[in-house]
Amino acid sequence: MKDLHTKVISNQELAPGFFRMRVLAPGFGAQVRPGQFVMVRVREGATPFLRRPFGVFRTGFLPPECDGLPPKEYLEILYKVVGQGTALMAALHGGDPLQVLGPLGAGFDLPADGKELILVAGGIGVAPLFLLGQTLAPHRPVRLLLGARCRDEVLAVTEFERAGIETYVATDDGSLGEKGLVTQVLETCLKGSPSAVVAACGPISMLKETNRICSSYGVFLQVSLEALMGCGVGACLGCVVKGRGHTELAPRQLTVCEDGPVFRSDDIDWSQWP
Ligand SMILES: Cc1cc2nc3c(=O)[nH]c(=O)nc-3n(C[C@H](O)[C@H](O)[C@H](O)COP(=O)(O)OP(=O)(O)OC[C@H]3O[C@@H](n4cnc5c(N)ncnc54)[C@H](O)[C@@H]3O)c2cc1C
Repeated sequence: MKDLHTKVISNQELAPGFFRMRVLAPGFGAQVRPGQFVMVRVREGATPFLRRPFGVFRTGFLPPECDGLPPKEYLEILYKVVGQGTALMAALHGGDPLQVLGPLGAGFDLPADGKELILVAGGIGVAPLFLLGQTLAPHRPVRLLLGARCRDEVLAVTEFERAGIETYVATDDGSLGEKGLVTQVLETCLKGSPSAVVAACGPISMLKETNRICSSYGVFLQVSLEALMGCGVGACLGCVVKGRGHTELAPRQLTVCEDGPVFRSDDIDWSQWP
């Protein structure tokens, strides 16, 4: 784990309210596993005081400069502006300082059975799935099913396609791809190809439905959960969710930051969300 006092390289608005931030992150790529996240603080003493969690979208190296120095390494996050912390981030420019703690948490750990991998993403939930798809696409078939509210909120398709990942889009309003929910597309895919494994990230309602569909087809599913998070390292217990088998007498509580954010779907008590 690194506690980087680093710099923003670029911070591009991809669509209204959606940004891709590239940050200098030496040595980060060798440490991060797909599905892990970082805690970001805009600057020391800034309000909000608590760092904010973001999945690692991808890592890479800047093109070499003609200075004889090794190429500089970066990490990228994709984020949506929802409140004070993300609004502060949206105002940053190349060269601005930033603190990044990570990589944190448990990443994806899929069975190495060579089965097709179906990635199911809802909105900004696409962010932590790219690294997984990029890592596994050379070794097994990978498809992305990407759901969004409208065309503007369909992010990162080019990156997935460049990594050799077939991409299907569904939008709520039909402005791009199929009109409807991405989980309907998943059900159609599993009817045709039940021998797959699934990794999903997005709103809880989408994940619950993904879990229902995968269970009914007997398909292995891992989900990346989001929760309000104070520390990111298992200390504050602000991000606890109920594990399967949890009861008041025998509590089974899981921290999203340390036990997750990626869980086997059968480890989660899905009834905790209405
Ligand atoms: C492991 C993990 C990975 C994440 N990865 C990404 C990512 O890649 N891209 C991205 O855009 N966002 C991601 N998030 C969500 C992101 O952390 C929050 O949107 C961010 O912390 C909001 O900060 P804020 O100060 O702007 O909003 P706040 O002022 O803190 O909150 C604004 C609103 O957003 C809600 N909110 C805040 N945090 C969360 C959360 N964690 N889950 C659900 N609702 C929340 C609040 O309840 C409130 O309604 C991730 C969260 C987790 C736990």
